[in-house]
Amino acid sequence: MTNILELNLDDLEKLFSKQNIPKYKAKQVFEWIYKKQTIDFSEMTNISNADKTLFASFLKTALPSYEKFFGEKTVKLLIKLSEKDNVESVIIPSEKGNTLCMSTQVGCPLKCDFCETGITGFVRNMNVSEIITQYIVAQKEGYEISRIVFMGMGEPLLNLDNVLVATDILNNPKGASLGIRKFTLSTAGLIPEIKKLMQKNYKINLAVSLHAPNDKLRSRIMPINNQYNIKDLLLILLEYRQKTGRRISLEYILLKGVNDSLQDAQQLSNLVKGTDFHINLIEFNQTSSKYQKSDNLSIFSEFLLKKNINVTIRKSAGSDIKAGCGMLSGKK
Ligand code: SF4
Repeated sequence: MTNILELNLDDLEKLFSKQNIPKYKAKQVFEWIYKKQTIDFSEMTNISNADKTLFASFLKTALPSYEKFFGEKTVKLLIKLSEKDNVESVIIPSEKGNTLCMSTQVGCPLKCDFCETGITGFVRNMNVSEIITQYIVAQKEGYEISRIVFMGMGEPLLNLDNVLVATDILNNPKGASLGIRKFTLSTAGLIPEIKKLMQKNYKINLAVSLHAPNDKLRSRIMPINNQYNIKDLLLILLEYRQKTGRRISLEYILLKGVNDSLQDAQQLSNLVKGTDFHINLIEFNQTSSKYQKSDNLSIFSEFLLKKNINVTIRKSAGSDIKAGCGMLSGKK
């Protein structure tokens, strides 16, 4: 049995051809799933009962079980991929439409010191159908999704092939038709994979977790910095910006007494001077780590603004239901 959510339209057409089923029927099914929000063959009214039975004999359409948690500004989905593997996705409604924050790995191997997912540890990469399931469940719950951010559990660039297949499926104009500009990928800064993304010519927005203005501190809180330092990271980001024209934002969570002094702000401003990178200053959501929320968010931001740096304060939504930035763990 093939999970239907693993397949883009051309794969589905090929599979149907092998079974001597006309191609147009693949298109009908694909449209039901991604345009009319039903994955259940029994609800596909323009498909005959004989075809429904035939399709169900080689295509799996069952969704995993899930729970919903409603916060003041967000909705969290806890999806049970298997007996022991749970992942979380967050729906963030706004005036511009609903954004879906999707997970790409069960856990994360990068062990950023302040992040609950990193603390939880790594289990495995999610497959394409598991990534797409998050979108299907959100739509099924009545949230029309207009933007995707790969910012949930995991480092998307460590599961790049599956993330790109999922992106292609959601980007397909015959289905969900989400424009490539509607996708943002968040990364801790894996240089070879950023190059790969650039070579493949996917013009996806990048949100890069910087979180420290110098290598010594960044290596302490984000071990990946021992492999890819800040200077090399910024160089590849400049190249990415130039080649793709896509926006780059640098994410900076303010941690009390760690990276929130005016000296840190000065170092950060020196790093990005002369670029058009956008800095998102993020309020820390309490995790089980030793870190605490900084009181310097406004002072830090004002300092950067005076230096003419593009900066926005992001008060992370979702902390009331443990759905905020850095809080996802696959637990309730
Ligand atoms: S911040 Fe991102 S890359 Fe770092 S441990 Fe958490 S999920 Fe992984």
